[in-house]
Amino acid sequence: MRRLADRLQQRIARDGALRFDHFMNAALGDPEGGYYMTRDPLGLAGDFVTSPEISQIFGELLGIWLVECWQQLGSPNTHLVELGPGRGTLMNDMLRATCHVPHFHDALTVHLVEMSPTLRSVQQQTLAGKHPRIFWHDTLPECEKPILLVANEFYDALPIRQFEALRHGFSERCVGWDEAAQRFCFVSGETHATLPTAYPDIAAGALAEGSVVEVCEAAQHITRDLAAQIATLGGAMLAIDYGYVRSDHPAQAGIGDTLQAVRQHQFHSVLENPGGADITAHVDFSVLADIAREAGAKVPRVLSQHDFLNRMGGKIRLEQLLKHASSPEQQQALSGSYERLVSVNEMGNLFKVMAVVSPTVTAPIFEG
Ligand code: SAH
Repeated sequence: MRRLADRLQQRIARDGALRFDHFMNAALGDPEGGYYMTRDPLGLAGDFVTSPEISQIFGELLGIWLVECWQQLGSPNTHLVELGPGRGTLMNDMLRATCHVPHFHDALTVHLVEMSPTLRSVQQQTLAGKHPRIFWHDTLPECEKPILLVANEFYDALPIRQFEALRHGFSERCVGWDEAAQRFCFVSGETHATLPTAYPDIAAGALAEGSVVEVCEAAQHITRDLAAQIATLGGAMLAIDYGYVRSDHPAQAGIGDTLQAVRQHQFHSVLENPGGADITAHVDFSVLADIAREAGAKVPRVLSQHDFLNRMGGKIRLEQLLKHASSPEQQQALSGSYERLVSVNEMGNLFKVMAVVSPTVTAPIFEG
């Protein structure tokens, strides 16, 4: 099999410039050369670190939040679902933190949605013996019972389309091949009089020429499906990610280009070396919240990670852990890692937490 970059170049030569979501989809998920498919990118030795890998408090608090929703639902038999579980650390921490809640684990079937065979095997090792019913899926399974779901840094890995505002419409940003420079480059693709997707609802002419609008259709589909299931069968979910809420940025209806690529903890060119670096885009939480509400679910105001974790009692949990730490160094490490999650200069503000719950559930922390 030829290198992914060579195959993409060939595809462009044959079919013309690629839509960016098609390029990103291949760069991350191509079965042979996709970034996630062949490696475990998480951790200090990898390319990036996520909240559950930084502090156990993250997963513990998410688990407790889900238990509170489950109890409000009347403690039914439930599917506990995680989208993009990475190394399985978040699920492991959630299961450990909730193992003493009467009947909770008995009521659960655990489902992990993971496209990467490499990460699946890491998850299998992490979660061996942690729950008697754990199943893996490539895509979101059909659920016939209430669902409790978490997704941390999953939505930001879903492929996006980018549109550039023109005076009377939008042109799609595509990926072409620059023969002289021997590299991929952005080129203008098809022009549309209006955005070819219903969300976000931005009129042609509303933005300064050259502004970029991003659309993640995959995130929209998944959220619509989940919200409809939560509305009809009951349930609750938390999506945590880098992202924005449009009302926080009233001057910037278009928000702009948020694509970034990271390799070994350093920024990297988005188009260079597809499959060799992680590519992400910030999540448009306003659009996802609108879609979930339209599907019948309740979405309270999106919180920052700082507010969510602190209001969930993260500091109290930290105090408990500090008491049991074996050395001052360990205490320092525990405090430092929690601080990293909540500090507004680090992950506290950049990361947002969106809750989607069935109309009968009062979302703990978010409401009331
Ligand atoms: N939630 C984990 C890992 C985040 S990295 C954590 O917080 O540590 C993104 C995860 O989503 C990886 O497990 C990746 O393989 C998975 N993933 C990305 N796109 C996916 C898709 N389209 N379908 C299923 N899994 C996907």
